[in-house]
Amino acid sequence: MLLLHAKGAELRTMEAQMRRELRQMVRRGAREGLLRGTFGNVSVRLGEELLITPTGRDYLKLQAEDFAAVDVVSGKVRAGDPSSELPLHLAVYRLLPQVQAIWHDHSPFAVAAGLVTDEVPVYTGEGHGLIGLALPVAPYLPSGSRSLADAVADVFERTGAGACLMRNHGAVAVGASLFSAYCGAIALEEASMHYLVTSGLSPAALPPEEAKAIRAAFASYRMR
Ligand SMILES: [Zn+2]
Repeated sequence: MLLLHAKGAELRTMEAQMRRELRQMVRRGAREGLLRGTFGNVSVRLGEELLITPTGRDYLKLQAEDFAAVDVVSGKVRAGDPSSELPLHLAVYRLLPQVQAIWHDHSPFAVAAGLVTDEVPVYTGEGHGLIGLALPVAPYLPSGSRSLADAVADVFERTGAGACLMRNHGAVAVGASLFSAYCGAIALEEASMHYLVTSGLSPAALPPEEAKAIRAAFASYRMR
């Protein structure tokens, strides 16, 4: 990994750039209704650390310097006041080295879908590409707890999905970039809506081979 070998001034330049990008994406998520109030949190991996949204702050007022910096392995906070959902972000990054960004929000269709099924079917190409064959649902566990963090990381590892729902809580999307995690958050909310509004109407699904081919194609497709 190039970033792991970056040192000193070079790493600080990358961090400054990533902080600006994170601020831009979080504000976009707030404007588009994915991040409401102070609910949810977003992080991005940078070398051996992650940058994460601070706890209890208005997304539209966040400045680049407000994001907390945390060592992924030790969990030691170098700067800022990280989100209370930090354990979830740490658990996923530690388990899945390919994940470079994590987006957690409380989008309403996702929460609703997670109340009524253990697995949300996916019906669109972008859904299969960003999420996988289906959208799994992690069990309810207290917000911010280590048990929730481990359960969500386990769902991602076990299913290979790009997103999952958290029962009675919200949703998580992971990606190889901040932008792809954001796109995953949109895809999971849309998949949840498609499922809820077509429930009982015999919706048409893509053949599994087609869904798998789309998922495989997205794996090498860099979104930015
Ligand atoms: Zn939450």
